[in-house]
Amino acid sequence: MHQGYAKSKELFAEAKQYIPGGVNSPVRAFRSVGGDPVFIARGEGSKIYDVDGNGYIDYVQSWGPLILGHCHPRVVEALQECLTRGTSFGAPTELETKMAKLVMKALPSMEMVRMVNSGTEATMSALRVARGYTKRDLIVKFEGCYHGHADHLLIKAGSGALTMGVPDSPGVPASVAVNTITAPYNDIDTLRKIFAEKGTNIAAVIVEPVVGNMGCVPPLPGFLQDLSGLTKEYGALLICDEVMTGFRVSYSGAQGYYGIDPDLTCLGKVIGGGLPVGAYGGKREIMEMVAPAGPVYQAGTLSGNPLAMTAGIVNLEILAQPGVYEELERKSAQLAAGMKKAAEEAGVACWFNRVGAMFSGFFTQVPVVDYRTATTSDTKKYAAWFKKMLELGVYFAPSQFEAGFMSLVHSDADIEQTVDAAKIAYQHVQS
Ligand code: PLP
Repeated sequence: MHQGYAKSKELFAEAKQYIPGGVNSPVRAFRSVGGDPVFIARGEGSKIYDVDGNGYIDYVQSWGPLILGHCHPRVVEALQECLTRGTSFGAPTELETKMAKLVMKALPSMEMVRMVNSGTEATMSALRVARGYTKRDLIVKFEGCYHGHADHLLIKAGSGALTMGVPDSPGVPASVAVNTITAPYNDIDTLRKIFAEKGTNIAAVIVEPVVGNMGCVPPLPGFLQDLSGLTKEYGALLICDEVMTGFRVSYSGAQGYYGIDPDLTCLGKVIGGGLPVGAYGGKREIMEMVAPAGPVYQAGTLSGNPLAMTAGIVNLEILAQPGVYEELERKSAQLAAGMKKAAEEAGVACWFNRVGAMFSGFFTQVPVVDYRTATTSDTKKYAAWFKKMLELGVYFAPSQFEAGFMSLVHSDADIEQTVDAAKIAYQHVQS
C-alpha cells in the first residue's frame, strides 16, 4: 500500500529554509514535473526507498553512476576495507595508477589520464588543456548538450539548465560567453560553415557522443566521424564528453561503440561507482601539457581519492566480465520495447531513443535528433506520466530532458512491473 509522502514533504519544507530550493542540484527539486521531491532513505539493488517507506524501481541511478545498482556487495565490501586505511592522503596511492590503467585499456584513445572530482571539473580542465595546447581560445559546443556548470559551458546547455528554461545563466560574463560558439547537434553542415569562418581560431569541439542531457539523443550515422574529420582538418581538438556514456553504452564508451578516436575524453559517473569522481585524458602529447608535467595548471585536494578509486575499480572490474554489456542490452531493449508498445496501445504519441543502457521516451511525434526536436515534447504530459509512475513505484527522472538508465541488477520482474505501470501511466496521460 502506498504510504503517502508526508515525511518527504516535511523534510523538503525544512530543507528549503537552509538550502537554495531545498536541493543541492536543481533537477532534484521536481520543478519541471511539479510537486515535491521524495526524500530517499536508502537503496538496494535496483530499488530505492523513500523516508515514508515507499519503494521504487530506480531508473535514475544517481543520474548514471550506479550501473551495478545500489549497494553492490562487492563495492560495499571494498569500500569498507578501504575505509579502515584512511579516507584521503593528498599523496599518491597505487590505486590511482590501477584506475588509470583500467581506463586506458578500455579507451585506447586515452594515453594518459588525470583524475578529478566531478564531470564539471573534467570538462573544464579538458578545455583548458585544449586551449593551452592549440593556443586558441574559441570552443564549439552543441545546443542541448550539458557538460557541467563551468561558465564557458553553461551556454545553450541541457539537463537542469534546459529543464529550468535558463539556458544561459546569469553570472556568466559576456566576455566568457563570446568564446563559446554553439551549433545544432547532428548538423554537420552548420558546423562546416562555422569552421570555414572561424576554424583556425577554434581550440576544440566538445560533444556528448550520445546526448543524455536533452533526453537520450543518439548521433546520426556519420555525424561523429564527420566531426572528427572536420576538427582534424582545422587543427582543432575533438573532446568527447563521455561523463555519461563512458562504461555505459559499451565498455569502451561511445567512442568504441561508434569507432571514433577523440583527442581528449572526459569521464565521470560510472568510474566512481557513486562516489564523487571525474577524469580527463587523451593523447600523450596533449596530456603532457598538464602540470606538473607541463605548464597548464590543474589540481585537486581530493583528486584520486582512495574511496572513489576503490568503488570505481570494482565497477570497472565487474563491467569487464564477458557478457555484461550483452545483458545490459537485452534488458534495455526489453524495457524500451515494452514501453513503446504501452504508449502505442494507449494511443499516446511518443518517440523513443535508446543506445545501450541509456534511453528516453519523448512525448512527441517528431523524430528527436537535436535540441529543437527534443523541445517539441509535451512536458505537461511527461509530468503527468512521471507522477503516475512514481505513485506506481517506478522512479524515472523528474524531467523530460534527462535519460533513463538500466542497471545490471534490474530483474526481468522489475522490467515487467515497469511496463505494467507504464501501461497505466500512458492511459492516465491520455485521459
Ligand atoms: N558531462 C556530462 C555529459 C554530464 O552528463 C554531466 C552531468 O550530468 C557532466 C558533464 C557534469 O558532471 P558532474 O555533475 O559530475 O559535474
